[in-house]
Amino acid sequence: MITWKLKASQYSLLLAAFLVAGSVRGQEVGKPETKPRVVVFGVNGAEWDILKPLLLRGEMPNLAHVIQRGVSGKMRTISAPNCPKIYSIFETSTPPQENGITGFLVHGVTANTSMLRTQPLWSLLSQSGVSVGMANVPATFPVKPVNGYMISGMLTRGKDCEDGVLCSPKLSEVSNGDAVYPRNMAPELEKNVGDFHIDCARMPEAKDLPGHEVATVYSWLAKVTKIREEQRKLFDYLLASHPTDFTFFVQSCEDRVGHWLYPIQPYNVGYNARLHTVQLNAFPDQYRAMDKVLGTILGHLDENTILLIISDHGIKPLRESESHSTHMDHGGTTPIIAKHDFEDGDDVPGVFIAMGPGIKKGVRVTGLPMSVFDVAPTILHFYGITQPPQMQGRVLTEIFENKNAVSITASSSPD
Ligand SMILES: [Zn+2]
Repeated sequence: MITWKLKASQYSLLLAAFLVAGSVRGQEVGKPETKPRVVVFGVNGAEWDILKPLLLRGEMPNLAHVIQRGVSGKMRTISAPNCPKIYSIFETSTPPQENGITGFLVHGVTANTSMLRTQPLWSLLSQSGVSVGMANVPATFPVKPVNGYMISGMLTRGKDCEDGVLCSPKLSEVSNGDAVYPRNMAPELEKNVGDFHIDCARMPEAKDLPGHEVATVYSWLAKVTKIREEQRKLFDYLLASHPTDFTFFVQSCEDRVGHWLYPIQPYNVGYNARLHTVQLNAFPDQYRAMDKVLGTILGHLDENTILLIISDHGIKPLRESESHSTHMDHGGTTPIIAKHDFEDGDDVPGVFIAMGPGIKKGVRVTGLPMSVFDVAPTILHFYGITQPPQMQGRVLTEIFENKNAVSITASSSPD
């Protein structure tokens, strides 16, 4: 524990030194360097099985726009994937046992940024003078100093939060650490965006459902809609008022809705006619709503921006062979009918979509050659930064028009 604390403080000092050195260097040279602009939109648990029919029916015009102009495919995840594990792989390109984030709970304590044992992407980019903006990315609480801003996401601690269990604090309800870096940005956000929820709502408990299924489903979905709109407004504000070279935003309501309202059939495990006939569109509706958030993001991008849309895993209905204990979540209080922590991660691949200068257009990658480990090395490559030796993924060269390009935006940059 002491070693971790020492490491965390040393790491913060080092980063602060790099940030100062970076700004001094910039002043000496006299002109700010033009850096590629990369926006990453993480859609928690985005599932191709749900996305494809919506795309075919033309109900996700913004996502269709990106897919038609970019590269898309499945993204290989790891065994028993969950959000803190995979987002920490996105950030470090190292396996959970090496980066330190092995699940929602690590040695009985809620996963947090002070447990990270390998240098994350936000720190590597900051050190290289790339400005970084992040909002609602899972497992980024408490926030760390970056060359820009960071607003934490899933697993932020606050009012009514039990260890290792999801909760949904508002900005004003956060406790046990900072949710916003720099600190003085918090009042600015409250003023311009409002007191937004940092994460999507926790699912209703089993005890609250019998006899109240219809009311519970509709009131809970109304809360989800409200949270998504708060986050859309947050992203809109950040992109307009705090543009950064590298931007990473995440929404998590898709995953939460899928766990208990996936449109399953009577033959599926856990089917409850009183609950699962109430709102068959609840889960697909999340993707229709996500498409509108994507529309807001696209409104801020130009043809020189690289956009990545990624998911940490998919989500699938439970199987006949699942034991009873796998039907409950949130510490055994909440019934679920779909999940993603299957032993074989290849059963629940995520989504990878890329669009921008130097990236192939209208190409679909088949199979599972692209992995969650490849996200960080590929992002570093956009900035011409060589991946550090501990990173185990690779640069996804197959998405580039010119495989040999060192930094894919170098040729398209006006200077
Ligand atoms: Zn997830």
